[in-house]
Amino acid sequence: MADSRLERSAIVGCLLGGAVGDALGLPREGLSPARAQRFFGAPDRHRMLFGRGMISDDTEHACLVAEALIRSGSDAKNFEQQLARGLRRWLLCFSVGGGAATFQACIKLCLGVSTSHSGVDSAGNGAVIRSALLGVVFGRDRNKLREYVRRSTRITHRNERAYQGALTVAVAAYISANESEVSGHLLLSQLRHVLDGKDSYYFIGLIEDAVDSARSKERVSNLALRLGCHRGITGFVEHTVPCVIQVWLRYPNNYQAALQEIIGAGGDTDTTAAILGSIIGAREGKGAIPERWLNGVVDWPQSNQWIEKLAATLSRQLNEGKPQSPPKIAWPLLVARNLLFALVVLLHGFRRILPPY
Ligand SMILES: [Mg+2]
Repeated sequence: MADSRLERSAIVGCLLGGAVGDALGLPREGLSPARAQRFFGAPDRHRMLFGRGMISDDTEHACLVAEALIRSGSDAKNFEQQLARGLRRWLLCFSVGGGAATFQACIKLCLGVSTSHSGVDSAGNGAVIRSALLGVVFGRDRNKLREYVRRSTRITHRNERAYQGALTVAVAAYISANESEVSGHLLLSQLRHVLDGKDSYYFIGLIEDAVDSARSKERVSNLALRLGCHRGITGFVEHTVPCVIQVWLRYPNNYQAALQEIIGAGGDTDTTAAILGSIIGAREGKGAIPERWLNGVVDWPQSNQWIEKLAATLSRQLNEGKPQSPPKIAWPLLVARNLLFALVVLLHGFRRILPPY
């Protein structure tokens, strides 16, 4: 990206677009589309805590990628070590909400296992939620993109599908931030160049089906059903990524409509909305996020303002090339926040025991 203002807008939009999607989808996570509708009605407002939204691991891990990029300068190996350091800190701050594979990998990292052996054989979404920002930053350089996505993925997920899903989302985010027109044809032609490795034809086949589905303008819930998701989109890349791509191709410029559609399809809603929100946010910037959605996220200390500062620092670092320090965060306060967050999640869990079913 040559224009630094454009780059900054894309980074801010990517991180905030993901955060708002995460917060909107979070109260519905794991519910079927029908039960979520009975519980909360249409996905058009925050429902986590007194009509406000909170972020989860999806946003926290995207921010860890930004922090690792800022600290490591242009050194990919150092990036991997900095990301591992962030993941260890994330676990030690009593964070909750990550997928099982990410959690296991973080425990291994805390026990001193190296980044090349910490990953678990899982094709969950953990690495995909970290890859949109890598696409925005490195998408122009195919080899660099592959290297950063590979290093980011293998820390937690060593299954090849996790890498293929992460790379697909990174390419989508790059196209979204840079190309004047978004199309399935463009996505597929770039993917065929970038996705190598064994079995990549299988993943490209999944994306081809998603492109056909978008072309026929069907609801994403129909695609999810064909993929075998009967209670909403699961947290596995081979379900999540085609569904996210399908909605993105139908609404590349419409953040609100896209997020309502993917959250309405149920399942792993915080993650699907975070990934889709970060891809569209990278194109449209912060201004495309409805104000009531943006201002309704009341999290702290990783607030919207902190995320914007983080994006600004990353943009500066990319222009100057030298490693820098990310904006400070009060870690003891983050622990207190995480304990409160765990309580809110627990209350939502208890509420689900009660009707409506
Ligand atoms: Mg989450």
